[in-house]
Parts: sequence; structure tokens; C-alpha cells
Amino acid sequence: MSSKQKNTDVILIGAGVMSATLGTLLKELAPEWEIKVFEKLAKAGEESSNEWNNAGTGHSALCELNYTSEKSDGSIDINKAIQINEHFQLSRQFWSYLVNHKLISNPQDFIRSIPHMSLVQGEKDVAFLKKRFELLSNNPLFQGMEYSDDPEKLKEWIPLVMEGRTSNEPIAATKIDSGTDVNFGALTCMLFDHLKRKNVEINYMHSVKDIKRTSDGLWKVKVHNIDTSKIEYHTAKFVFIGGGGGSLPLLQKTGIPESKHIGGFPVSGLFMVCNNPEVVARHHAKVYGKAKVGAPPMSVPHLDTRYIDNKKSLLFGPFAGFSPKFLKTGSNFDLIGSVKPDNVLTMLAAGVKEMALTKYLIQQVMLSNEKRMEELREFIPNAKIEDWDIVVAGQRVQVIKDTEDGKGTLQFGTEVVSAADGSIAALLGASPGASTAVHVMLELINKCFPQHMQEWEPKIKEMVPSYGVSLEKNPELFQEIHAATAQSLGLGEKEEEKELVYS
Ligand SMILES: Cc1cc2nc3c(=O)[nH]c(=O)nc-3n(C[C@H](O)[C@H](O)[C@H](O)COP(=O)(O)OP(=O)(O)OC[C@H]3O[C@@H](n4cnc5c(N)ncnc54)[C@H](O)[C@@H]3O)c2cc1C
Repeated sequence: MSSKQKNTDVILIGAGVMSATLGTLLKELAPEWEIKVFEKLAKAGEESSNEWNNAGTGHSALCELNYTSEKSDGSIDINKAIQINEHFQLSRQFWSYLVNHKLISNPQDFIRSIPHMSLVQGEKDVAFLKKRFELLSNNPLFQGMEYSDDPEKLKEWIPLVMEGRTSNEPIAATKIDSGTDVNFGALTCMLFDHLKRKNVEINYMHSVKDIKRTSDGLWKVKVHNIDTSKIEYHTAKFVFIGGGGGSLPLLQKTGIPESKHIGGFPVSGLFMVCNNPEVVARHHAKVYGKAKVGAPPMSVPHLDTRYIDNKKSLLFGPFAGFSPKFLKTGSNFDLIGSVKPDNVLTMLAAGVKEMALTKYLIQQVMLSNEKRMEELREFIPNAKIEDWDIVVAGQRVQVIKDTEDGKGTLQFGTEVVSAADGSIAALLGASPGASTAVHVMLELINKCFPQHMQEWEPKIKEMVPSYGVSLEKNPELFQEIHAATAQSLGLGEKEEEKELVYS
């Protein structure tokens, strides 16, 4: 065992889409800054950002019903949908900038157009969908959305879903062709390849074990080089903890006051993947349903056309599960190890409050394949068990913290936690996740580097022209940006015309 110490401007922990996005933004804003990355696995984008570990939906609230909640007076709140859509537009602009400046190429390897649909059954849900459609279709961000409760129209849109449907219950769907499927794993790898070309030092098989403040205000990061079994110490002026599910334990090690009274609860996911190319070929949309009563928002069932390795695939899920690991490659002691004297009450309060979630997770873990097929048959009535396999998706660590809603409240969003002086920041939580990486990392930059913002703003606006501007309130700018990003990213072209093989 030996040790070495090195100084740098920025350390990024973890090689997922968040570190990739932050590193790429910082390299454009401050090209002279030295950046180092430490990743415990052998490659980039292998945990939640990997294409098989998430659903690959470019979340822009075009189809996710949980972003438009129904209030007790029956009205529908579309504010969250607007916000998420605006955030996704920032990602589209930044990715377009990277393509236009030849910093990455072949955008079809990570993003493709796919209709986004919402599908509901039963009088009450049909009335909800219609009302939601009326609100959204009047908003510039959701233009082009169509609604139908005519079974003949629905057969045109989703033949596989309508075939063999015997129920007389009303059924309705909305459809918008400007939705996307995003391969976040491929995107992450492209961004890390770009960072490598920009001389960023990327250290795979390097696991971060500890983070401590030095007397001169820097951060000292203790790293285990897995290949050599050596311990290294690196110091930096700024550290980003982008460890995905592994971020919380590292944040706790910093000892900053902002890291206290926060806990995490891991929820794992499973997808069913279709192995029959004829079935895969007959569906072309991401179709989101409504979460069952009492089920958490991340369990909304959806049937997704995906493009993975340039192959068209069909996935259904997610089914939730429980594992005490914070990462797919984590340890069974992750959850228990994250309980500290400062967050034990927060965690216990959440345990008491979230009995419904616990019950739901137990039910999900107990589901047999036949039971999962029953859920799938709500989408594809004629689905055959032999056409579907199970894949284990990524771990989400939901944040638990004390809020004005009370002690130990489970959070479903993403959250940047940073030191008061902005010298260290961590990203916690998983939803809406990778789709909003650019917004989240720009927010982090704003929080951690306020002294540079005036100087950096023109460059940020060059990369993301709508930065700081509401596109909803500027429909002409939205049209212009949407058309330009579609062109740069090759969106809107018929997928059938692109070279594809069926999985
Ligand atoms: C089932 C599921 C479905 C999802 N669906 C979608 C979707 O449809 N659309 C969407 O936008 N988002 C979705 N998400 C969320 C999205 O996947 C995540 O928000 C995003 O990938 C998080 O990226 P990250 O970089 O923070 O974490 P990760 O991609 O998990 O990367 C973290 C990296 O840090 C490394 N690491 C951890 N600890 C250490 C350490 N101590 N030392 C060194 N390295 C370390 C890990 O090995 C990993 O490579 C989904 C997530 C799940 C689980």
C-alpha cells in the first residue's frame, strides 16, 4: 500500500450522466480548469444511467400522468408538467450545441423520436385525460397533442394494445409525436469520450472512500485504486458527488451541516423485455398508464418502444422491488450503514409514515411471473408469457428528509445538496432524472459558482439559448428552438427510414 497526493480544480465522483453533463458544461465555461473523474466501475454509464437500468424516456411531461395531478376540487394542476417540459428543452438545446460544434456526433445513437402516449380506462380516468388534454393542448409546449376515445382511432395508433380487448369500459388516449427515447448510457459514454479528448483525467476502477476538508479550505478525497489495491489522496477546490445511489454515504462523510438529517430509501426496478421480433415490430410508442391507487409515482406502468444499440426493443414495467443496496453493484449493508445519529429519527418517522409504500413494495416483491403477465395484459391483452423475459433495472435511492410536511418525508424528485460556500455538492434522488440533467447541473453551477456567473452567462446562453427565459411564455422562441434542436438531433424523421434491426 502506498499513497500519493495530487491537487486539481475539480473532482467529479462517479461516471454517470450527471458527472458527464457537469464536466462537459464546465469544460466549455472554464476550459483551463483541471478536472479529474473517479469511477469505481470499469466503464462510464454502468449504473442508473445505463440503457438497461432506466426507461430511456425523455421526460418532458408529454405522457406521464403523475406530472398533472388532480386537485381535491377536481381541477388539474399542470405547473409541474410545464416545468419538466421546460427543463427537457434545456437538455435538447445543450445536446444540439454539442452536435453542432462537433463535440459529439451521431445523435441518433442516443436520441430518437417516438410518440408519447397516455392511456386510461374507465369513465373517471377518461374524463381526467380529456380535461388534461384540453389544458395541455392549449399550451404552446404541448402543441400537436391529439386525444381520442374512439376505439377505431386507437387501433390505428396502438394496434397491439387494442387487439383482443374485450372490456366495454370507456378507453381513451392522447398522443404526441414529438416525444423522444433517450439512450442515457450511450449519451454518457459519448460525453466521457469527449471529456477524454479534452484532457480530463478519467480514472476507472477507482472507488472513493472518504472526503474531508483540509485546513486550507480544499477537499481531500481518499480513493482506492481497485486494480493496484493502493490508496491515493487527491485534493480539489470543488468536488461534485455524482455517485447516483452512492452519493448519500459520500455526502455524509463530508460532515457538512447540509448533509445532516437526510436519509435514503432504495427502490429497485424490474422490466419485462419482449423477445419476439414480430411483437416488437407491431408497436411504436411509449404508452404511459396511471399508477394504481396507493402506488408511488415511480411505479407508473408503461409500455415502451426503445432503441438500444440501434435495435428496436419493447419493454414493459417497471415493477418495483426492494433491495437494501444503494447501487446495483452496491452492498447489502448500504441502507443500514446510512443510518446515522443525526438521521435516525428522520428515517424512523419515514418508516412509520410510509407503511403504504412498504406494503406496496412487499406485494411487488411477491409478484409471480404470471401476476406480472396480468399487469402486462392490461396493456397487451394477447401477450404470451414465452415472449417476455425479465431484466433487472437500476436502483433509485429516494431522499427522506424533514420538510414542512413533517419529519421523515419521502421525496420523489432530484435534489442538489451543497455546502454554504459552494465548494462541494451532491446530487440525490432519481426523478425525473437524466432527462433534466442539464437543468440540474446548471442549477448546481449557479449555486456553487455565483462569482463566475456574470462572466459565464453569455457562454451559457450560447449553449442553451433559452436559459433564464420561459419558453411557455415565448411561444415563437419555443417554436424556433424546438425546430432547430429537432434538426440538429435528427428528430422528427421517420424511425422506419433509419437503419434498424429488430431485437
Ligand atoms: C428503474 C429506473 C427508471 C428510470 N427511468 C428514467 C427515464 O425514463 N428517464 C429519465 O430521465 N431518468 C430515468 N431514471 C433516472 C435516471 O436513470 C437517473 O436519474 C440518472 O441515470 C442518474 O445519473 P447519475 O449520474 O446521478 O447516477 P449513475 O448513473 O448511477 O452514476 C453514478 C456513478 O457513480 C459511481 N459511484 C458510486 N459511488 C462511487 C464511489 N464511492 N466511488 C466512485 N464511483 C462511485 C457508480 O458506479 C456510477 O457509475 C430511471 C431510474 C431508474 C432506476
